[in-house]
Amino acid sequence: MKTVKRSLRYTVWVYFMLFISAILILLWLSFVVSLESNYQVMKTADITTVANYIINHSDDENFADDLDKMAFDNNMCISITDLRGVTLYAYDGLGGNCLIHDDHNANLFYYRNKVLESEDGFIYYQATNPKFKNKTLLFVMLLKKDGVPTGFVYLNTSLEPIESTAIIIKKQILQITIVLFVLGLIISFFLAKLIATPIIRITKSADKLAKGDFSEKFDGYGYDETEALAATLNYASNEISKVDSLRRDLIANISHDLRTPLTMIKAYAEMIRDLSGDNPVKREQHVGVIIEESDRLASLVNDILDLSKLENGSKPEKRRFDISEKLMDVMKRYDVLTEQKGYRFFLSIDASHTIDADVQRIEQVLYNLINNAVNYTGENKTVYITQLMRGNNVRIEITDTGDGIDEELLPLIFDRYYRAEKHKREVVGTGLGLSIVKQILVAHGFPYGVQSRKGVGSTFWFEAPVCDLEEESKEHTNSLSLGRRKNDNNTPKK
Ligand code: ADP
Repeated sequence: MKTVKRSLRYTVWVYFMLFISAILILLWLSFVVSLESNYQVMKTADITTVANYIINHSDDENFADDLDKMAFDNNMCISITDLRGVTLYAYDGLGGNCLIHDDHNANLFYYRNKVLESEDGFIYYQATNPKFKNKTLLFVMLLKKDGVPTGFVYLNTSLEPIESTAIIIKKQILQITIVLFVLGLIISFFLAKLIATPIIRITKSADKLAKGDFSEKFDGYGYDETEALAATLNYASNEISKVDSLRRDLIANISHDLRTPLTMIKAYAEMIRDLSGDNPVKREQHVGVIIEESDRLASLVNDILDLSKLENGSKPEKRRFDISEKLMDVMKRYDVLTEQKGYRFFLSIDASHTIDADVQRIEQVLYNLINNAVNYTGENKTVYITQLMRGNNVRIEITDTGDGIDEELLPLIFDRYYRAEKHKREVVGTGLGLSIVKQILVAHGFPYGVQSRKGVGSTFWFEAPVCDLEEESKEHTNSLSLGRRKNDNNTPKK
């Protein structure tokens, strides 16, 4: 289903105008329409009050004066007659517009008869004044003293609000209506603009961002909500720009790393074809280089795959295993370096400890750290691997005797593709090793870190909580130099 798109500006404007129209309609209804009916109710109530006053206070000393005042205040005509129709009291509060004075005597006779016929002793009667054509209300009542009829009371009041007042009010409301409407139009226009502008500007900035301009900054124009949106977008833009530059680096680095072994493979393959094909010794040597370089390629591709898997948030498959055993197991694979290249590995294990972690991934952490130590250790080609307890954690430290790492570089080396320029490698390195280590240890929630001193060496470490401290009674402190085995083909990441 296709949704109809409306502009925010237009919608705000429409709703605001609807709101103002509703107010105006209410205003008109209450003032103009209900004015009349309210007036009628009010006037009927006035008549009742005056009638009650006459019944209860006819003997008062100031009766006539008080009645004058009431008639004047209420714009009412009052007439009181005896039974024969002789006027006892009269007041014209309607300025000669009464139905009960002078020339209407014939009518009075008619009303008088109606009252006598009525059960209650009074009647309300609505009539139109023949002279001014306005609606009037007439009230006629039989006056009694001690149950004996003594005369008649006539009350007459206009039922329409005094015309001029009504006209003035209507005019004023009309003016208010026009002013409100125009004002509403202007205010809603600016209000709509005010609301829509930051969004329109943010959208423009987002457009630029989408086109790859990461320098564009989002501005929220001081409103809480749009400021929050702008802050989020600035953050997103920042992150995207980081990812973007990482992607560029990654592609540059990967292409560089892929090119080197590929060039070598091609060069040696050509050499075999053109030169050493018939020379078994040379050919063997050249094929060896090709195999080595292919391994390098494979390990680079593996690292990239590992990292992307880890970064996609795949969870570690935890189980309990003996970290000390694993450490010894891993070290066996370095025998070949001891035998062929003269490296020395000193492994020190305080006791056997069980931890709960993903075996394969912890193994990868160990390989990556030890490979780095091998690559960066000093002339003495020595690497120390130590397992010890720190509180409830088992701590693994891998120490080399290399040049160490500049202090300002320490926070960077765990980042993806951070890599020192100089390459002197015994084991294949891709610049991804430490970021894989970081991802794995972060996924496990294990603490990790590095200490390094220039010219002395570096110690990379991580810790894992020991599962069952009671279980671990088998103390066996070892400090052994590995590298005794012969013909162990499990070369580290080669
Ligand atoms: P790679 O070793 O393949 O370059 P890593 O992610 O394993 O990639 O390491 C990143 C960088 O950290 C290395 O290029 C290097 O500069 C530095 N580094 C890592 N381990 C050590 C170490 N033991 N001694 C000195 N520098 C190291």
